[in-house]
Amino acid sequence: MRAESTITRRQSRQIMVGNVPVGGDAPIAVQSMTNTNTLDVDATVEQIRRLEAVGADIIRVSVPSIEAAEAFGQIRKAASVPLVSDIHFDYRIALRVAELGVDCLRINPGNIGKDRVKQVVSACKDRGIPIRIGVNAGSLGKDLLRKYKEPSAAAMVESARRNIEMLLDEGFENFKVSMKSSDVFMAIEAYRTIAREIDQPLHLGITEAGGLRSGTVKSAAGLGLLLMEGIGDTIRISLAADPVEEIKVGFDLLKSLHLRSKGINLVACPSCSRQNFDVIKTVNELERRVEDITTPLDVAVIGCIVNGPGEAKEADIGLTGATPNNLIYREGRPDRKVTKDNIVDELERMIRARVAEKAALSAKETALSAEETALSANESSDPVAEGSP
Ligand code: SF4
Repeated sequence: MRAESTITRRQSRQIMVGNVPVGGDAPIAVQSMTNTNTLDVDATVEQIRRLEAVGADIIRVSVPSIEAAEAFGQIRKAASVPLVSDIHFDYRIALRVAELGVDCLRINPGNIGKDRVKQVVSACKDRGIPIRIGVNAGSLGKDLLRKYKEPSAAAMVESARRNIEMLLDEGFENFKVSMKSSDVFMAIEAYRTIAREIDQPLHLGITEAGGLRSGTVKSAAGLGLLLMEGIGDTIRISLAADPVEEIKVGFDLLKSLHLRSKGINLVACPSCSRQNFDVIKTVNELERRVEDITTPLDVAVIGCIVNGPGEAKEADIGLTGATPNNLIYREGRPDRKVTKDNIVDELERMIRARVAEKAALSAKETALSAEETALSANESSDPVAEGSP
């Protein structure tokens, strides 16, 4: 197995978004946002289910009207994952979704108004609902744009400070902050600055990052750098693509930094004329087949002996191309030979067998520790045992 992350995370306080802890020593939560019409309850619930299936920790739903708030209430009942409502301008929507069981409100206090913020904060306090202050370079206040001439990290930080102050003035500290910009440099500077000033959790994102490929690259560049500096408690990869891809990319990013382990961590060579089997076809087919697995496992698929044995030995299961037969390693040791015709079937079989083994092992450990707890509870309640020398 590969090494744990050596990243030291910024110490943030922990908040709860529904049953998901964000900040502190909690795993970095991966989020996405629905892009259906919230009034279409069935379509939104269906999308939420697809996001839940790929492991979304938290899902945001836009709630642009009071009608949408009522629809949100039905959506909330149907979903198991914590839901964040995205609300702008109209505080009544925030109050309504708070009544209907929202797990977090994404608002900008500045565009709601001081008196109304009081009411929203009081509703959140009553119900233990956290708030996300969502600063966005594309929607800064007019006065900030006049002062700074154009969107900048300094303008974003000033906007964040104002919004934070409005919540702190109400004695409300149960919030997280995002500082999103479509410009990687601006976002990084804004996040770094605010990270030094507050201890609330930070929600990372590069907004309007682009399509599946360009947005993934841009998000990885910006978020990767911040995450390596220990900044970030929850992330969203914003893609003009199926939101399911946002979750997959989010986990892949965290996996690449060893910040979270979920499912198969696939190591594959790009292939070249030395390959002994079709690496690209094998990797694509294998990835598709093992998408449902959530147990962390390192799997290497390498086309030839140049890098094959080295990578295969480091993985839980590794395949190295060779002639006349390819060789599969299991936990660092050569295990069996495979012809190129049954590579994917054999790898999938071995992966699933290893996953089952790990599950059985962890069930055994859980049972053992429950037994130990029961035993020590019995011993401490036994007066003879307690009094004996
Ligand atoms: S491991 Fe072998 S097949 Fe893969 S890229 Fe390197 S030389 Fe080519």
